[in-house]
Amino acid sequence: MIKRRLEIIREIKNYFLDGFRHVVSPNACVVCEGELVQSESFCCSVCFSELAQTHYADSEMTTELDELFFGRIPICSTYALYYYQKYNTVKPVIHAFKYKNRADIAVFLGRLLGEKLMQISGFSSVDILIPTPLHLKKRYLRGYNQTEKIAQGISSVWSNVQINDQLILKKEHTKSQTKLDKFTRWNNVSDLFVSHPSIAQYRHVALVDDVITTGSTLEAIARSILKVAPNIQISIIGLAVTMR
Ligand SMILES: [Zn+2]
Repeated sequence: MIKRRLEIIREIKNYFLDGFRHVVSPNACVVCEGELVQSESFCCSVCFSELAQTHYADSEMTTELDELFFGRIPICSTYALYYYQKYNTVKPVIHAFKYKNRADIAVFLGRLLGEKLMQISGFSSVDILIPTPLHLKKRYLRGYNQTEKIAQGISSVWSNVQINDQLILKKEHTKSQTKLDKFTRWNNVSDLFVSHPSIAQYRHVALVDDVITTGSTLEAIARSILKVAPNIQISIIGLAVTMR
């Protein structure tokens, strides 16, 4: 009981300290905490150049992200810009837009993602971007859905492709997926999503996510889409994919 109370006090203290740090140094690099110069927005140029890119756009080969969905669901094209690892510098960047109110970072990286995707022919026929839905309670607490912010960045460079966040309904709040194994994750999400039949008006939809781990959530969304629109093409865009 006392231990739990101490934990709560520590959590509250960290919450306020994080907020305070942000107030006193809003121009600090989210990775190394060094001061930013005027041309840098959230990350210093050294840390930015060291973010682990996948370089998927430079290769015609099948990627590990393509392979993640083999035998599960038919996917047209996949792409992720960065590798996400427990100890790499992509983690604090994603942490900043998920937990530190830095939606601007998600939009900025979405624009980079959009520029890369323009070089890949498999994405040229995409006619709508669908952000991974966030439960309303989580969205309310965070103030925004980070995958919508990434999609906004992509859409700002793909001038003819809009975002639709009304096509997929997430039914109920589940426990955080991060600590569950692959099978439990799948059971946890398999019937969680419902697609609106009007999705069938599109020919090629791109699902947008922040970090792709097991792909279970995206698989469940794709299955719900194929139920109402069996002939639709589905592609997958992640800001990052976990390094295997
Ligand atoms: Zn830095």
